[in-house]
Amino acid sequence: MTAGQIRPIANSVRSGAARAVDVLNGYLARIDAREAEINAFNLVLHDEARERAEVIDAEVAAGRDPGVLAGVPIALKDNMCTRGVPTTCSSKILQDWRPPYDATVVQRLAAAGAVIVGKTNLDEFAMGSSTENSAFGPTRNPLDVTRVPGGSSGGSAAAVAAGFAAGSLGSDTGGSIRQPAALCGVVGVKPTYGTVSRLGLVAFASSLDQIGPFTTDVADAALLLEAIAGHDPGDSTSIPKPFPSLEPSLTRGVEGLRIGRITDLPGGADADVQARVDAAFDALAAAGATIVDVTIPAFTYGLTAYYLIAPAEASSNLARYDGVRYGMRVAAADTNAMYSATRSAGFGPEVRRRIMLGTYALSAGYYDAYYGKALKVRRLMAHDFDAAYADVDVVLTPASPSVAFPFGSKTSDPLAMYLCDTYTIPSNLTGHPAMSVPFGTGADGLPVGVQVLAPALGEATMFAVAAELERAAGAAQ
Ligand code: GLN
Repeated sequence: MTAGQIRPIANSVRSGAARAVDVLNGYLARIDAREAEINAFNLVLHDEARERAEVIDAEVAAGRDPGVLAGVPIALKDNMCTRGVPTTCSSKILQDWRPPYDATVVQRLAAAGAVIVGKTNLDEFAMGSSTENSAFGPTRNPLDVTRVPGGSSGGSAAAVAAGFAAGSLGSDTGGSIRQPAALCGVVGVKPTYGTVSRLGLVAFASSLDQIGPFTTDVADAALLLEAIAGHDPGDSTSIPKPFPSLEPSLTRGVEGLRIGRITDLPGGADADVQARVDAAFDALAAAGATIVDVTIPAFTYGLTAYYLIAPAEASSNLARYDGVRYGMRVAAADTNAMYSATRSAGFGPEVRRRIMLGTYALSAGYYDAYYGKALKVRRLMAHDFDAAYADVDVVLTPASPSVAFPFGSKTSDPLAMYLCDTYTIPSNLTGHPAMSVPFGTGADGLPVGVQVLAPALGEATMFAVAAELERAAGAAQ
């Protein structure tokens, strides 16, 4: 497993042992060498990053502390607003759109001394599981360039796996941090809903969206999450209390913890992936945890409910791209024709499919049968997890049913693509935290991610288990 990057960089920049500019140049050199092949970025901010790194070095030289992420190169998914810097959501409809403000996470990264290296590629409007839905071409998996990096935050996952950034941020609506983290062999965290501000995250499905970190190890993920988490009055769903330190979790171990194994988990995970999850249970048992069987009957309906709720919210959120307020406009004879020409030209096929699905699910006569029923499943999911968490501290599942798959293998079958999210979606429906931790390799030597799920605000225990899995994976090498 790759060692953490963020802590050593921040420590040496803060102490004056390394210069932020030199650190940045190392990352930019790797970008220059391999980005043409990987396509992790929609935009690399060479000049802005250098200027920023110089400011950080000047702060240190003047005896000031730039913060816990001093000089750390971070990549941002291109659906997070950066003031004056294009934020495209990998969609033609937002090409060249420059937001007038920074997302709260961008402000927090700046306040902590981070250096933003670029905006990363994604499935258009974060809809997809392979980054093949980007209007600007797919991102390739740095571990095997014939395969996808996962999605929708494929660029953010690939950027960390390729050493283009020390860490990155993604967004996760149904698995878009955890699945690409699994496929690229890095750590990916979806925190509890309301933990990280969504102000300035371009909305896909507002009741499901959360921002979280990608890093090369669990300790770095804790640090990056702490830096961006915490109450933001600008997001009405932000939890109004401070985010706790995850530091004690990293060395806590799992002695006395109860780890849930879901006995009625939907099938579909490949044997190589399942073997690693089984090994993860064994490793935690060997480290002092108890494995407890639980059932989550609603788990199996999660995917269906998500593909009604997420498109329903998306159809409403994406109504704002009308050719008037943002980005592109296609001229036409009258206003209605202009709306329709702009939206037809600006949105790709998957986004159009979601808008149509969502509009249908919300339409009069179908609302109760589809959207209303999906909300009931969402409630049942929360109920089932609450019941399970009476008996266990965390639950373990695969993050993705398979290792990274070849390009084109699922693009002609949307349902096959949607099945990538089977194990990740329930945590978005409940709002609970979940993370993917690399735990060895499966078919063709490609990484497998084990997913750790915890109850709302259970990040401390989740990180303790993740850190133990990381130690076990390291010891097995
Ligand atoms: N792959 C899922 C989808 O296409 C999840 C996307 C996400 O989490 N942003 O909706």
